[in-house]
Parts: sequence; structure tokens; C-alpha cells
Amino acid sequence: MLPVQTDILVIGAGPTGLALATALQRNGVDHVLVDALDGAQNTSRAAVVHAHTLEMLDTIGVVGSLEARGIALPDFAVRDRDQVLLTVSFHRLPAAFQHLLMVPQSTTEAVLQARLNELGGAVHRGVAALAAVTDAGGAAVTVKTATGEQVIHARYVVGADGMHSIVRDAAGIPFHGEAYGESFVLADVTMDWPLNDEVSLFFSPAGLVVVAPLPDGSYRIVATLDDAPEKPEIADIQKLLDARGPTRTARVTGIGWASRFRVHHRLADTYRSGPFLLMGDAAHVHSPAGGQGMNTGLVDAIVLADALTRVVRDHLPDTALDDYARTRRPAAQEVLALAGRLTKIATLRSASARRLRNLLLRVLDRLPAIKRRLALGLSGLARRRFATLPPSGVLARHIAQ
Ligand SMILES: Cc1cc2nc3c(=O)[nH]c(=O)nc-3n(C[C@H](O)[C@H](O)[C@H](O)COP(=O)(O)OP(=O)(O)OC[C@H]3O[C@@H](n4cnc5c(N)ncnc54)[C@H](O)[C@@H]3O)c2cc1C
Repeated sequence: MLPVQTDILVIGAGPTGLALATALQRNGVDHVLVDALDGAQNTSRAAVVHAHTLEMLDTIGVVGSLEARGIALPDFAVRDRDQVLLTVSFHRLPAAFQHLLMVPQSTTEAVLQARLNELGGAVHRGVAALAAVTDAGGAAVTVKTATGEQVIHARYVVGADGMHSIVRDAAGIPFHGEAYGESFVLADVTMDWPLNDEVSLFFSPAGLVVVAPLPDGSYRIVATLDDAPEKPEIADIQKLLDARGPTRTARVTGIGWASRFRVHHRLADTYRSGPFLLMGDAAHVHSPAGGQGMNTGLVDAIVLADALTRVVRDHLPDTALDDYARTRRPAAQEVLALAGRLTKIATLRSASARRLRNLLLRVLDRLPAIKRRLALGLSGLARRRFATLPPSGVLARHIAQ
């Protein structure tokens, strides 16, 4: 039975909505989580969970299950065909998790949903939000279900509803940015591949290609490609690897999930407007270079759960929600800049610029301090400062004044 009143209505049960609902459930905070789809999505999509995300997800008790289903990789290597230009190692990170975890997004979502259910929470599926307006108690959201339309009243409404967020539109929050020129090809393939202990990023004038092992023995391929085919086939991926990967590349033998998508580079002007809050792709989207998209959204979810718990359960002033917005938006700004830089460097076309880039990367590869900075940036640990709200004491002083 779908409630008609709640403290927090979370719209969207992708990875970020599921993580937020799990954290709220664990903290004993009243909420309702809805998703327009009748069932969970079963496509691979984001396949990397970074060290910083793992430490944040550890607070909701899902990391053991994720690690049991994923592959822990210690290294990220940048290559130009057969040459290694730079290796970034995660095994000396100042963190509880000293690796990145390869795990398909569908598995991450299934693990989060299982944990939510274990804690007594649920997803209301087949419930599409159509419109939202502010009212005296917060907001009123009209939803469409199998049995018709109804209104849910909530103090706060969280837009975890992806790039085309209706919550963002209802709140009138601009989403500035643009679409990248290139399309991206994504495919999970079977093949013989020698580099099983790392995520490999190949730079090439024709565009970048990333190859990473997945837990079922297949490999995730991500590549920029002008005029990418709508449904990439084995021959398309083979051609990509022949042109951009190592010269003695393996033969691609099978293809599972494959897709083409165009990437946008956009950031919401604010993450909060009155009762409306944004997180995940509803708040920020960018190139998949560096595998940061879902990771940034998952950290948003854990920080927002903290802010909402302070306000709804602990009755602190709702300026904690402004703190969430102020704390997390700069993280996305940094991630957008990182993904943009990586894409630009990876796809240099002029031969002289590529030679200079490769030389520079080989020099950087000999500088431990730089390599450590890169590891901190990629793992998300460099953005830890954007993952903690100001202490409640600061807010408590506001109340007293
Ligand atoms: C083809 C593809 C490949 C990708 N590859 C990568 C990758 O390699 N690396 C990476 O980091 N990221 C990748 N991404 C991005 C990554 O999947 C997203 O960053 C991540 O899913 C964001 O999670 P989210 O919870 O914010 O939103 P989403 O996963 O988009 O979830 C939004 C949810 O909201 C629901 N919803 C939407 N509108 C409504 C509504 N009106 N009412 C109710 N429910 C609604 C949707 O059904 C959906 O379940 C990829 C995305 C795609 C599409």
C-alpha cells in the first residue's frame, strides 16, 4: 500500500535512491522510495566502485556483499598501445579499502536493495512521479500507479530520478552544461586478455578506450566513437581494440550487454530549493572517463541521509540540508573537471602533442608524490572533505542564538 504522507519521498530507485533509503531505514527515519519501473534494471552500466565510495557504503553494511560479488583491482594504468605511460596504484592508499572494485551496476543495485529489505525497507515499483508542487507541509507529488493517480505529501522530496529529473524541473533548478561531441560505446565482452590485474586506459588519436575485467570473466570496454553503432557488435569492438589497444590484442569471442550513449556535462545550479533536494545524475552528469559518475552519486546519498536524519529524526534546523547542498556540489565540480581533463588528454590528435603528453606522463610516472595525488583523485579520497557535514554542534549553536 502506497502511503499518502511521509517525511521524505525519494523519487528514483537507482543506486543513489537505494543507498539513501537504506541509510534512512537504518537510522529509523520515515521515508517512501518509489520508482517508475516495474522491476530493477539488469544492465551493467557503471562498473567501478572506488575506495572512497566503499568507505561511505561501509556505513550502511553493504561492502561485504559487494566485495564478495566483485573483483578488487590494485592498479589503474595509462597506456599508448604497447607502452605503459603511467601506473596509478591504490594499494598504499591511506584508507580502509586499498583497491577499486569492479562490479556491474545491476549487482550494486541488487546488493543495496537486499540490504534495504533486510532492514525492513521497501521500494514501491511501478510508481511514476508526474508533477510536484510546494504546499504548506512541504510538497505534494502526483504519482501514477497501476491503479490510477494519487498525491503523496512529504516534508522533503529527493530527486534521485536521474538526468531527466522531474524533481529538478519542479524545483526550477537550472542544469547548465552541454552534450559532448562524441558518442561512447560500452560493451561487456568475452576475450583473451593479458592485463587482468588492472583497469587499462588506452590513449589513441582515434579516441580513448578503457578495458577492465568483470567478475564473471568478461571485460568491460568503454570507448569514445564518432557515429557509434546503436547496437555494437563483436566486429565493432574488435576493430576498436585493433586500432587502439595493444598491437597483439586478443580476439573478441562474445558480446553480452552493449550500448551507445551520448554524454552530457552538466551541473545543477543548487542541490536544494525549499523542500526539493537533488542527488546523483539528477544533480550532475559527465563523461565516464575515470568512472566517477555513480560513485559521486553514492557519496551524495550517504551525506544527504546524514543531513535528513539530523533534521527529521533529531529535530535540528533544516539548514543542515543547505549544508548538504554546499558540501556536495563542489565535489561534483571537481569530478566534472577531472573527467573533462581525462577525456581531453586521452583524445589528443596532433602527433607532436601526443609525443609531448606521453613524455610528460612517463616523467610523472617516476614522481611518487604526483602518483599518490592521482591515486587520491581517482579513488575519490581527495574529495573526502566534501563528504562530511559540519558538526551538529555548529547547528546547535545556531538554534541557541
Ligand atoms: C548506458 C549507460 C552506461 C553508463 N556507464 C557508466 C560507466 O561506465 N561509469 C559510470 O560511472 N557511470 C556510467 N553510467 C552512469 C551511471 O549509470 C549513473 O551515474 C548512475 O546510474 C546514476 O544513478 P542515479 O541513482 O543517480 O540515477 P539512475 O541510475 O538514472 O536512476 C534513476 C531512477 O529513477 C527512476 N525514475 C526516473 N524518473 C522517474 C519518475 N518520474 N518517477 C519515478 N521514478 C523515476 C528511473 O526508473 C531510475 O530507476 C552509465 C549510464 C548509462 C545509461
